[in-house]
Amino acid sequence: MDWWVSMPKIELHAHLNGSIRDSTLLELARALGDKGVIDFSQVEHVILKNDRSLSEVFKLFDLIHVVTTDHSSITRITKEVVEDFAFENVVYLELRTTPKKNDSLGMSKRSYMEAVLEGLRAVRSVDVAFIPYSEEPRNLSSPLLSDASEKCNGNTRKKIFVRLLFSIDRRETTEAAMETVMLALEMRHFGVVGIDLSGNPAVGEWITYLPALKFAREQGLYVTLHCGEVSNSNEIHNMLEFLPHRIGHACFFEEEHWRRLKSSNIPVEICLTSNLRTLSVPTIDAHHFVDLYNAKHPLVLCTDDSGVFSTSLSNEYKIASSSFGLGQKELFELSKNAIEFMFADNVVKEDLRKTFNSAAKNL
Ligand code: 5GP
Repeated sequence: MDWWVSMPKIELHAHLNGSIRDSTLLELARALGDKGVIDFSQVEHVILKNDRSLSEVFKLFDLIHVVTTDHSSITRITKEVVEDFAFENVVYLELRTTPKKNDSLGMSKRSYMEAVLEGLRAVRSVDVAFIPYSEEPRNLSSPLLSDASEKCNGNTRKKIFVRLLFSIDRRETTEAAMETVMLALEMRHFGVVGIDLSGNPAVGEWITYLPALKFAREQGLYVTLHCGEVSNSNEIHNMLEFLPHRIGHACFFEEEHWRRLKSSNIPVEICLTSNLRTLSVPTIDAHHFVDLYNAKHPLVLCTDDSGVFSTSLSNEYKIASSSFGLGQKELFELSKNAIEFMFADNVVKEDLRKTFNSAAKNL
């Protein structure tokens, strides 16, 4: 495991609230129990349960949202999630989250996202670079990069690039989806680079989100879609026709979908543990990773929800190694290749190529 931890890694598919630490979730739930907002004894076992079906996962998300959706919890979770990824040598993180509105808490989609940004600023143990270089004032590094050269225990401090994707939840209306896209455009200078479509795949219609996704792409935002998490041939077809910049999962694809995917070269975010836990693939041996990898299709290993599925990106690489017989060199290359599909500018990509090249010499 040590080797997979020390290897530099790129995370392109991580949901903020799904990456919450178990300990934080339990602590927040207990505090709400003490206040009488929820019955803690009823939720404790839901949190602690390990294997969940896809529908149980979405029930857990509803609970997580009750427990976490106030500004200070969101700030705390963001801080911890970034620290956790940086700790295991994730050098670039695209973190996605659904901007939420909750009138009773005085929360708007904007204030929710401001709480996320506060969390990025609150990280002290590593340097977090989330403001795109083009937005940084000349000769003045951002407050977050000001100590980029500081030494920590004799070593250069770790640095993690973070970019944000705003998720549209499939329960949302066209107007709500459009509101999310408008907010993403307004917040671009804080490292918001794209839009994700996620949420319960058994809910909603593609046509509802299409106007907002089209508009996002026209405005230069990147778009990634959760695609093929359930069997829905028409929707998968329509999503692939849309030509998103990336897709996540691709579990319930039929021959026609594979052909279309491969000919259009759309990179796939692969989440092994998530797919197994939610029974979206029958066994690891039957996972489409193998076919796509052999076809040299663009791929990236990701966690999806490291908290909900009790995994880490290092663990996902370890699983790929032991399940598919891939060595350190092959998986190092796979990790490095993700630079080509990330939603970041060339300055970041060049910086990361150097990081990987120097790690290749040291490892
Ligand atoms: P949040 O957006 O609140 O930070 O992260 C949790 C949300 O991400 C969930 O409510 C759900 O909308 C979305 N999500 C997390 N994991 C999955 C997944 O495996 N599939 C889909 N479709 N959505 C997910």
